[in-house]
Amino acid sequence: MNEKLEFDTVDQTIAKLVPNQVFEQLQTNEEGLTTEEATKRLDLYGKNTIKEKQGKSLYPLFLANFTSMLAILLWVSGAIAFIAQMPQLGIAVWCVNLINGIFSFIQEYRAGKATEALKSLISSYARVIRDGQEQQILAEELVPGDLILIEEGEKISADARLVMSSDLRVNQSALTGESHPVQKYADAVERKDLESFEIPNLIFAGSTVSSGSGQAVVVKTGMNTEFGKIADLTLNVSEELSPLQKELVRLTKQISIIAFAFGLTFFLLAIFFVKNPMAESFIFALGMIVAFIPEGLSPTVTLALAQGVQRMAKKNALVKNLSSVETLGCTTVICTDKTGTLTQNEMTVNHIWLPGRELKVTGSGFAPKGKILDNGREISAANDSALNLLVTAASLCSNAKVIPPNQDNPHYTVLGDPTEACLGVVAEKAGVRVDFLQRELPRIYELHFDSRRKRMTTIHELNTQVHGKTRVAFTKGAPKELIDLCETVNVNGAVSPLTAEFKATVMAANDQYARLGLRVLAVAVRYIGEDDQDLPADVSEYTVENIERKMTFIGLVVMADPPRPEVPDAVAKCHQAGIRIVMITGDYGLTAESIAKQIGIVRGDSPRVISGVELENLSDEELRKLLKEEIIFARVAPEQKYRVVENLQKVGEVVAVTGDGVNDAPALKKADIGVAMGISGTDVAKEAADMILTDDNFASIVQAVEQGRAVYNNIRKFLLYILNSNMPEAVPSAFFLFSRGTIPLPLTIMQILFIDLGTDLIPALGLGSEEPESGIMRKPPRNLAEPLLNKRIIFKAFCWYGILASVISMCGYFFVNFSHGYSAAGWAEKGSNVYLVATTMTLAGIVFSQIGAVMNCRTERQSVFKKGLWKNPIINIGIAAEILFLALIMYVPLLQDVFGTAPIGTKNWLLLFCVPPIILMIEEIRKAVSRRLTHHDG
Ligand code: ATP
Repeated sequence: MNEKLEFDTVDQTIAKLVPNQVFEQLQTNEEGLTTEEATKRLDLYGKNTIKEKQGKSLYPLFLANFTSMLAILLWVSGAIAFIAQMPQLGIAVWCVNLINGIFSFIQEYRAGKATEALKSLISSYARVIRDGQEQQILAEELVPGDLILIEEGEKISADARLVMSSDLRVNQSALTGESHPVQKYADAVERKDLESFEIPNLIFAGSTVSSGSGQAVVVKTGMNTEFGKIADLTLNVSEELSPLQKELVRLTKQISIIAFAFGLTFFLLAIFFVKNPMAESFIFALGMIVAFIPEGLSPTVTLALAQGVQRMAKKNALVKNLSSVETLGCTTVICTDKTGTLTQNEMTVNHIWLPGRELKVTGSGFAPKGKILDNGREISAANDSALNLLVTAASLCSNAKVIPPNQDNPHYTVLGDPTEACLGVVAEKAGVRVDFLQRELPRIYELHFDSRRKRMTTIHELNTQVHGKTRVAFTKGAPKELIDLCETVNVNGAVSPLTAEFKATVMAANDQYARLGLRVLAVAVRYIGEDDQDLPADVSEYTVENIERKMTFIGLVVMADPPRPEVPDAVAKCHQAGIRIVMITGDYGLTAESIAKQIGIVRGDSPRVISGVELENLSDEELRKLLKEEIIFARVAPEQKYRVVENLQKVGEVVAVTGDGVNDAPALKKADIGVAMGISGTDVAKEAADMILTDDNFASIVQAVEQGRAVYNNIRKFLLYILNSNMPEAVPSAFFLFSRGTIPLPLTIMQILFIDLGTDLIPALGLGSEEPESGIMRKPPRNLAEPLLNKRIIFKAFCWYGILASVISMCGYFFVNFSHGYSAAGWAEKGSNVYLVATTMTLAGIVFSQIGAVMNCRTERQSVFKKGLWKNPIINIGIAAEILFLALIMYVPLLQDVFGTAPIGTKNWLLLFCVPPIILMIEEIRKAVSRRLTHHDG
């Protein structure tokens, strides 16, 4: 194909064609495109992507940081300073505003980049047939003419024309708003009165497969798709602020208002109480305001959240939005499924139960290496008809494929559901070639596995010499759900009625395996004669109701799915952290209970196991009562998860729930944190979730919770640190005011600005990226209702560190005065060298107190020494920078003038270096006492 196909003409005619003509029209065939042709077409048509609208220009984002209410107030204040003939102050205030704005912008920009990078990790894939082989490719590599395979739960990535379908229903709500799934089929459509979305043989990018499966030829990709045309509407969805970010905006406003109120009070006091000139009082008030406003708070928090998201991604948890990070930290209950999340999902069949006989299967994993032993004697399908029938039925009623070791992977891997893959493996162990079987008994129809029905059926053509062409149905599924469909049983080739007694024997065998934590599937068969009166002649009219009945039971397949080795530790961590775990599984109660006991989810001997049917009969009130105990939900349908989540939330729990199928989507959306499985999860589940686990592993949820808690704690640490310096910044002015000016101002406004924007910033950033504290998962979850800035932080910032730093810095001021012979009777005069050294000491006293404080803020209860005193590189750099800046303003003449400072001499430097260790040790003692009181070993 050398020229582009004319898409528009294709669109009008394609619905009328029969599948063969569709292949012809798109210049492809049932083997799909060749890789070479696909590459050519990719060059010709471009990538299958929806172009993002031109990204938001950076200018408005940049300017927004200079036009907030706070910024405007500071601009105006600076202007007033100029008018009042204090250009130095005016410049300083404007510089504050500029630095703050630039700092905020950089933080916002970095946070944006971090989340963008994560979005690109969540790429979607498509299954295609190319070069006659099924392959998984990136959806963006699809080209017109590609033959795609679609299945329940998958997202459709391009506009395509169906050439084969099986009970296919598609949800097109993203395009049409209609949320009910619509049926689609491959037949040619002649009608002209239909809108394109209504044409049943066309499927569209942006929709998802609700049920069934199909094959389709791609017609349009990228911006040419219908979705591409309307994409402008769906892009640029406004990104809502998380509750925490909202709280911060509110907090910043509140603190700013308080700062202005303080400023005004100080201004009035200075004029009327101290009788200071207006201009000087104004400088004063401005100093107070700047001292109190928490510059850069909101963007730093955004960055801390974004960094949290990045750290979680490294631990296999992709969080889709920032607000999930904080919610994760408050999780009180995790509702988890079992298979694949708590267990390894590496199914190995280890027993086969044939009526009256138990066979042992050796070997492990998906390698088809092992034996089938009957009482220790090796047997094979060739010499055992009952075994032959069972492995034939089980392996043909499967859609999974085992991929032998290859260049990319040195192990046997699985494409599809591991539960199904292991059935192929056991068939090979019994000596059956599954690919031969598939040719001999071609599949003509499938009734998909459905987790409500808990079964799956496939219909195959059977060529017998006696009866000619007939059909056979193979069904496999949960024993309890399947045995009731059987009327007969095949015992070593002889079919006899299935008695209630025999049913009980089968279920007893099932229970015995389940108690060991094994997973059991039952297998049944139904032969369909050509003139079967019960069934329609057309196979596409077969339904669950007319096929899954009158079956013959042939045996049980027993598989081991061991718990993931890291899960018991993760479960123990949850228990310590006050997080409850509720298992909600589709699997059998006894299997679920056994696994739950093995990994420590339930600690009592007889936990409550509620089945889906029992759950159905419980009232909400009864359910809520049960939810207080250790409980397992087994054999539940995915829809029932929603009810459990809803009722947990009603009693105030913050719920994380896992899911992978289409029917899990409502529960995932309802949960506070919906967790989808990255490997086994459908696109629908991933879209509904807040977090995607790239390794499907329960332990990753727990790590994400830990990170979520750490991020929130870090924000609190950061907040505490920046509020610490407010008190020592205000106290010198209070001395000046209440001494009616007798004590010359011990700390000037320029010096306050130096602390807030010079020395405090980098260490504060360092606190935002602290590693989680060791005891973080030994505390109960945070109360959602508690504000970020709680009483504890206020007390610590203002009454503990604040007073400590105030005392130290004012001591510095007085010490310089006293050591030069000044006293309360008369202080070094403003402008004198002693005064300059004294104010410099006040300033340096605060800076060195903050050095001690930043180390203390790194942990709440754990010893900083245990965590590693120098383990946070940003804080180390920050401390070094603080000291360097301080030295610069003391020794560079130009800066001395700007900041009103002077060199302080070696003795004073030595004194200053004693400050951080003292502050650190006082806090270490407090932490040790607190740990001892609460028996905490951090
Ligand atoms: P979990 O809900 O913990 O992931 P699960 O895989 O057992 O566990 P479902 O996928 O809902 O849950 O399956 C429910 C039951 O259906 C299983 O316990 C099993 O008996 C049966 N089953 C699972 N997969 C298949 C399949 N591919 N074909 C037929 N039956 C299946």
